[in-house]
Amino acid sequence: MLRVERICTVCGRGITRRRQWASGRNEVEYCSDACRSRGLTELDREAEKAIVDLLERRAVGASICPSEVARALFADDDWRIEMERVRMAARRLQRAGRIQIVRNGRPINPSKTKGPIRLRLRDDGAIQA
Ligand SMILES: [Zn+2]
Repeated sequence: MLRVERICTVCGRGITRRRQWASGRNEVEYCSDACRSRGLTELDREAEKAIVDLLERRAVGASICPSEVARALFADDDWRIEMERVRMAARRLQRAGRIQIVRNGRPINPSKTKGPIRLRLRDDGAIQA
């Protein structure tokens, strides 16, 4: 049977079944208490927007490194500590079907893999405005 993976609203990672049972509800929006209390901020939405903006300025099919987004958004010394914010934004955009997260040119499931990733617009092209 096909089971749709539930996705954390904040970090964009899959939510474990145990977590879903523990909640005693069907609608689990967060993968952890950390994500629940963190929530989403204006800066998180800006990170999503920066990813899309940067990709739309690149050639069709081109990919970017999340660090390019962090460098574009944050000052010299801050971008490294903001990398996870950018990765979270990338996962949310991927789950929303707007971008692909790739490694070696192939789409990956970011909940299940670690290591360097790149971002690109979806193959089917246009992003909804
Ligand atoms: Zn989460």
